[in-house]
Amino acid sequence: MDRKWVDTVLKTHNQHGFLRPVCGFSETVSILSSSKLRNQELRLSERKGHLRRAKNGCVRAGSAALLELVPETKKENLEFELPMYDPSKGLVVDLAVVGGGPAGLAVAQQVSEAGLTVCSIDPSPKLIWPNNYGVWVDEFEAMDLLDCLDTTWSGAVVFINDQTKKDLGRPYGRVNRKQLKSKMLQKCISNGVKFHQAKVIKVIHEEAKSLLICNDGVTIQATVVLDATGFSRCLVQYDKPYNPGYQVAYGILAEVEEHPFDVDKMVFMDWRDSHLKGDMDLSERNSRIPTFLYAMPFSSNRIFLEETSLVARPGLAIEDIQQRMVARLRHLGIKVKAIEEDERCVIPMGGPLPVLPQRVVGIGGTAGMVHPSTGYMVARTLAAAPIVANSIVSYLSSDGGVSGNELSAKVWKNLWPIERRRQREFFCFGMDVLLKLDLPGTRRFFNAFFDLEPHYWHGFLSSRLFLPELIFFGLSLFSHASNMSRAEIMAKGTLPLVKMIGNLIRDREFDD
Ligand SMILES: Cc1cc2nc3c(=O)[nH]c(=O)nc-3n(C[C@H](O)[C@H](O)[C@H](O)COP(=O)(O)OP(=O)(O)OC[C@H]3O[C@@H](n4cnc5c(N)ncnc54)[C@H](O)[C@@H]3O)c2cc1C
Repeated sequence: MDRKWVDTVLKTHNQHGFLRPVCGFSETVSILSSSKLRNQELRLSERKGHLRRAKNGCVRAGSAALLELVPETKKENLEFELPMYDPSKGLVVDLAVVGGGPAGLAVAQQVSEAGLTVCSIDPSPKLIWPNNYGVWVDEFEAMDLLDCLDTTWSGAVVFINDQTKKDLGRPYGRVNRKQLKSKMLQKCISNGVKFHQAKVIKVIHEEAKSLLICNDGVTIQATVVLDATGFSRCLVQYDKPYNPGYQVAYGILAEVEEHPFDVDKMVFMDWRDSHLKGDMDLSERNSRIPTFLYAMPFSSNRIFLEETSLVARPGLAIEDIQQRMVARLRHLGIKVKAIEEDERCVIPMGGPLPVLPQRVVGIGGTAGMVHPSTGYMVARTLAAAPIVANSIVSYLSSDGGVSGNELSAKVWKNLWPIERRRQREFFCFGMDVLLKLDLPGTRRFFNAFFDLEPHYWHGFLSSRLFLPELIFFGLSLFSHASNMSRAEIMAKGTLPLVKMIGNLIRDREFDD
């Protein structure tokens, strides 16, 4: 991992007093602040104090003007009375879930539903999750979670360049994180889950149980420990160098005078770069490592705008992304009046899986479940939660009395069976190709990708395709690609392909 880059990210985050590095990566990699909309109006182009002279002499709007509108961080808590864990009783719970994000709460809810005792540990158990999650509507529909979307769009658009726009007839939605977390907490409470507000700093394993040491001095004993600490990767162990790509994005939920987008469609990717024409420096940087706009228009004057670097190694600096965003918004004539929330997003993508199997069980960010080519994970994690929960329940309740390492190995095997590991290997191959593409190459890639049969591109984005179907996906993508794109895929994809084949051959089923 590029130390300088990580330091920059941590420094930026710490300025907001939000991010404390713990365990593997960081406690949270998003910062989202929220407050009432301010009425003051800002015309970016008119703020002389924030105009800077670029290398080529042209005047560039600094991102400082935009950032001035970012409100003070306000953490919003849900109004729940949580039944708290009583350490004085010395109870050994069946399952301790470390981390109360979507992954952890989903498993806590489902294991407790089966009558097992569960303790959920998180430093802020009532805090509304900070990230602005987007999902394909069919993914949430399949899990009967449509009531947890607060806005849906009938489709999405992709701007490849100024001439080519793709209309994707696949509905997209924004997760109502308050509703989703409330629903999960409600079920946890009625199933008897106990909560402990603290950070776990250490785990000690005995033969049939584990001891979790928290930063408040409390020790919690559990038969099974689930690490759901997201990208902190707090307890789960890795034995290979951690070398992921990084998706980095800066997003604002803003009140604007107007915007040019259709409110019925979300903007999945806007790869246009005409906003950078007058700035050689930014344009050249964007040509090498491109960023795109992701936008969710809620109304004609309220919109979520996120400038995103799909994947880069090391990740792009947030400041770079903010500069590109300011230039884009000005070019699109989007005048930001007020910012309701902002989000700094750093998602590690790809890289090795944790040691398989190991005593601590994992799910979500901690267990390598981010889609290595897209950075998406929420839908996949929520769909995997029943697999983890059912395995824990069935092995703990089995007459044979499976526990300790044996039980964890069985759960890991169900979470990462060989088909899923092969699928992930293919997605990592996709990431390795994307890492090598500049702006023209990226445009050619997505031009071909979104021309595929919906079965293929839907399946790829939603982790529904497995080998050997992924091979047909690859061949189909190749046949849709332009001659130039084919030559590029062959030139830049050969090494990653060889790496993928090597990894596939080496990967053997692990013993449980
Ligand atoms: C800004 C941002 C936007 C994203 N947007 C999307 C999106 O639109 N769609 C999508 O599919 N995916 C998205 N992702 C990716 C992924 O879905 C999210 O990161 C998701 O929140 C991961 O869920 P999780 O439960 O694994 O971890 P988290 O949501 O990160 O939850 C981890 C929890 O563990 C707690 N914790 C950490 N350390 C400890 C400890 N030592 N002891 C106890 N508790 C601890 C944290 O406080 C936190 O509550 C986004 C990620 C980010 C960062």
